[in-house]
Amino acid sequence: MLMSLFITSLNSGSNGNCYYVGNETEAILVDAGISCSEIEKRMKRLGLSMHKVKAVFVSHEHTDHISGLQVLTKKYQLPVYITHATLRYGRIRLQKHLITFFTALEPIVIGNLSITAFPKFHDAADPYSFVVCCNQIKVGVFTDIGTPCKNVIDHFQQCHAAFLEANYDDTMLEQGGYPYFLKSRIRGDKGHLSNKQALELFTAHKPSFMSHLLLSHLSKNNNCPHLVQQLFNEHADGVKMIVASRYQETAVYHIHNSNNIDVPIQHHRVSSPQLAFAFV
Ligand SMILES: [Zn+2]
Ligand SMILES: [Zn+2]
Repeated sequence: MLMSLFITSLNSGSNGNCYYVGNETEAILVDAGISCSEIEKRMKRLGLSMHKVKAVFVSHEHTDHISGLQVLTKKYQLPVYITHATLRYGRIRLQKHLITFFTALEPIVIGNLSITAFPKFHDAADPYSFVVCCNQIKVGVFTDIGTPCKNVIDHFQQCHAAFLEANYDDTMLEQGGYPYFLKSRIRGDKGHLSNKQALELFTAHKPSFMSHLLLSHLSKNNNCPHLVQQLFNEHADGVKMIVASRYQETAVYHIHNSNNIDVPIQHHRVSSPQLAFAFV
């Protein structure tokens, strides 16, 4: 058990993003786009302790990634890893002593975790995705990505588990009621990954040791969780497929080196639709 990783999505979608990655002794959050009290409530339900959380990494300045940041980091005096541009464009007010600026591709060591940021395409000032490594186990958080560029592919290929954006279904977006400019923005090279793009990335670049894929940042209006679950199940090839909810936390998943052993850590709340769905 020691030196493997535990992961969960506390919320995922354009209404708020917060991802937890940790080992037995320490953890980090990627983004804090739901309120501090929701983060506390959801972690408590999962049996996760805020006291293990040592830092928050901020991917970009869109509200759905930062709305809970100020209150959470002040309350727990959590260091925030961010870039100058994200801080400035997001007009994020943080206590100065909590701010650390990170540099792309320079790993940051927090206890036994090592976190690497890499730049990707998205319509934000200075957007990054992250890979968290612990004892050679890697988990990536890949959301808010316009196009699956070389950086995304290179890092996806290293991951034992990944949160991967599957934002929209092409047909639902096309036939939906969004104005043309918004459809173009979402579909564009700096928008979001479609189900099709995510599936192509997965089937073409999935490493043999990948055990879990958490489909993330699903659009409320242009996607359907059951559609995504079905689509990815058809191509799973032994990988556990989980659709992260816009409304509640997923279970905690244990990521370790021996493949094909799935140990859901939390057994309570399986009666809720999300978890019942997750364990199908
Ligand atoms: Zn977002
Ligand atoms: Zn965004």
